[in-house]
Amino acid sequence: MSRLLPPQAGALLTIDLDAIRDNWLTLKGRLGGAADCAAVVKADAYGLGARKVAPALYQAGCRHFFVAHLAEAIDLRPVLAADTAIYVLHGVHPGAEAECAAHGLVPVINSLHQLTAWRSLARQSGKVLPAVLQVDTGMARLGLAADELDRVAADHGLLAGIELKFVMSHLASAEDQASPLNRMQLENFRAALARLPATRASLANSSGIFLGPDYHFDLVRPGAALYGVAPVAGQPNPLRPVIRLQGKVLQTRTIEAGTAVGYSHTWTAQRPSRIATVAVGYADGYLRSLSNRGEVHVDSVRLPIVGNVSMDTITVDITDVPEGRVGEGALVDLAYPGHGVDDIAGRAGTIGYEILTSLGNRYSRAYLGAM
Ligand SMILES: *Cc1c(COP(=O)(O)O)cnc(C)c1O
Repeated sequence: MSRLLPPQAGALLTIDLDAIRDNWLTLKGRLGGAADCAAVVKADAYGLGARKVAPALYQAGCRHFFVAHLAEAIDLRPVLAADTAIYVLHGVHPGAEAECAAHGLVPVINSLHQLTAWRSLARQSGKVLPAVLQVDTGMARLGLAADELDRVAADHGLLAGIELKFVMSHLASAEDQASPLNRMQLENFRAALARLPATRASLANSSGIFLGPDYHFDLVRPGAALYGVAPVAGQPNPLRPVIRLQGKVLQTRTIEAGTAVGYSHTWTAQRPSRIATVAVGYADGYLRSLSNRGEVHVDSVRLPIVGNVSMDTITVDITDVPEGRVGEGALVDLAYPGHGVDDIAGRAGTIGYEILTSLGNRYSRAYLGAM
């Protein structure tokens, strides 16, 4: 996967579209015959480029795409064929209903207020408008609250003029298979479905797929697993890694024992050391919490980041690779299959999701895989 980096760029981010497609097929392969597999491409496909990723997934057979914001959906609509549905997880905000409908997008209705506004537009325009209805089953974040569900359950007429595509909910702890919350939310979801007009249902995110067939319903909504993030805490990851991040060495130097490195002198060499300065920093999403914790790899040798992560650079102890191997202009691996997004997240004290969505826009990007 190694490629030449344009001389004006400090780092190369390679995104493997074939791996993303394979991951989608792997997830789909875990479903029974009836359930379909969507793709969540919000936040620019978790930082990897929705306008590249979504069409690649379309080629693999994906026809349902979820984003968070209406603006993301409008941006994506032109790159996806008309036989796809694009769902807006945040629903439709007051004043944006006509725009949402004009672009042929499907809002996820999260409140009675949104429902009423979407219905009024349907009535005014004399059209039946599509929607997904979200119910809150135990996360208290988005979706109809219990009293709102009661109102709709008591009067299905509140859905008149709306083509209910799916009823959905979202799991709060799906990556923890032992959590009793999963079963509780499943039961709440089933109870809600029984009180609403018969339609298709959607509950599982990436991790939810691995909770088993009870959680699959008619449509699953993976995001992170498509991009290689491990779906089940503490278990081997069945998905392919998707990114490789290589940083360019700007300079190397030899320092004596006792020399301190970087802002605030948080690291001091205990032996004569060689230090490489690499052109990636926290402005590129290489989190500052990786100061003295992160590592880069060269020929699969682990090399520690020493000193604080700066805005535009990190400093790496390269003493353990042969002299001359890592010179000015060399590329070192910050993320690659041998040291993936979840490994970095573990060292940074966060989750793979945050590592991906923090990736900056200063990288030179290369996409692998036939389009
Ligand atoms: C982000 C999101 C998903 C995707 O979750 P992953 O854990 O990334 O698979 C699915 N459904 C909803 C409602 C979401 O907000």
